[in-house]
Amino acid sequence: MSFAGIQRRASQRVMVGNIAIGGDAPVVVQSMTNTDTVDAKGTAQQVFELARAGSELVRITVNTSEAAAQVPRIRELLDAMGCDVPLVGDFHYNGHRLLTEFPECAQALAKYRINPGNVGRNRKGEDQFAMMIAVAKQYDKPVRIGVNWGSLDSELIVRMMDENSKLPQPKSAAEVTREALIVSALDSAKRAEELGLAHDRIVLSCKVSGVQDLIQVYRDLARRCDYPLHLGLTEAGMGSKGIVASTAALSVLLQEGIGDTIRISLTPEPGGDRTQEVVVAQEILQTMGLRAFTPMVTACPGCGRTTSTVFQELAQSIQSYLRAQMPVWREQYTGVEEMNVAVMGCIVNGPGESKLANIGISLPGTGETPAAPVYVDGEKTVTLRGENIAEEFKKIVDDYVMRKYAPRGHGEAKPKSAPKIIPVQPV
Ligand code: SF4
Repeated sequence: MSFAGIQRRASQRVMVGNIAIGGDAPVVVQSMTNTDTVDAKGTAQQVFELARAGSELVRITVNTSEAAAQVPRIRELLDAMGCDVPLVGDFHYNGHRLLTEFPECAQALAKYRINPGNVGRNRKGEDQFAMMIAVAKQYDKPVRIGVNWGSLDSELIVRMMDENSKLPQPKSAAEVTREALIVSALDSAKRAEELGLAHDRIVLSCKVSGVQDLIQVYRDLARRCDYPLHLGLTEAGMGSKGIVASTAALSVLLQEGIGDTIRISLTPEPGGDRTQEVVVAQEILQTMGLRAFTPMVTACPGCGRTTSTVFQELAQSIQSYLRAQMPVWREQYTGVEEMNVAVMGCIVNGPGESKLANIGISLPGTGETPAAPVYVDGEKTVTLRGENIAEEFKKIVDDYVMRKYAPRGHGEAKPKSAPKIIPVQPV
């Protein structure tokens, strides 16, 4: 199958609640809360916000009995808000106990994330892993076997390093560690199937924090199995570093058709918005042509010809407006997420780019006549002047959406790539 001319790796399809991962499904956007799961209202509110931003699966920490006890309540709160986004439980160390002692938690979750490095050691670890798989089978839930560089099974890596040292030409420590990540994931998946979990109930991930390591690990993993793969650069970092590192790694792999779900592990700025990781994930997929979530704004970077802030303010205002309108438009109009809007700073590239977009505006650069021609489907339709250019331009966009995109028929399915539309209704 192909999207945007990219041949996707053939993977097994896994259903997580009502969301398909792998097979011919589009790449799914995931996110994770950073609230204390014991705070059911706060967690439900953040899940709601992440889902409303477009996250199609949301993972929550389930680390204590108190947290496990709140999971059904979180599900109830979300259902009451009209938000049916599937919840994924993130388990480490005590998942076997929490899943067996809190059956309502096990039932309320749509998927369990199991980290083989944190399940336990030796026979005890095997038993604890088996307990989690037994619960997954009992409630017919898929699992993600999520290996992480920072919590790799220490016995496995010691054994593999030891075996490597005895080879005539030992591999580097980094090569052995990368192989250990893959072996840990594949062996755990094999063990889960031996325990009776169906092949199409398993998703794999092998997260590392280095871009080149991640690319090499996933290329190898993709060659060696057909499980759907969850992609993410773990501990990507804060701000532009986290965004750039994640984009660099994920876009190489996605371009090669590797990856069925993605998450951008950004460290939020203090007081920052958790939904940023969802926006970045969507923008990676949309700029690569793999999915369409919201109308794209083509804006020039500005230069010495744009000495005032009018141009930046308009570009930002339009972008925010489109994102805010999308939940409503998507409910009402077919294909609106593919609209392209250009906001350009001067006459040099402004008219050209504006003509190529569905709607474009070319603002006056320094020294130019204070007029902003607007182009609709390649034709100049009007020239805006004065203080209210932004508001007038938004009105033109509104009119264009109403005229251009067919009303969605009653009961018509939303596009596959559409994030769920959830009414704004705080807890
Ligand atoms: S379109 Fe004009 S303002 Fe924008 S970058 Fe090009 S020359 Fe500068």
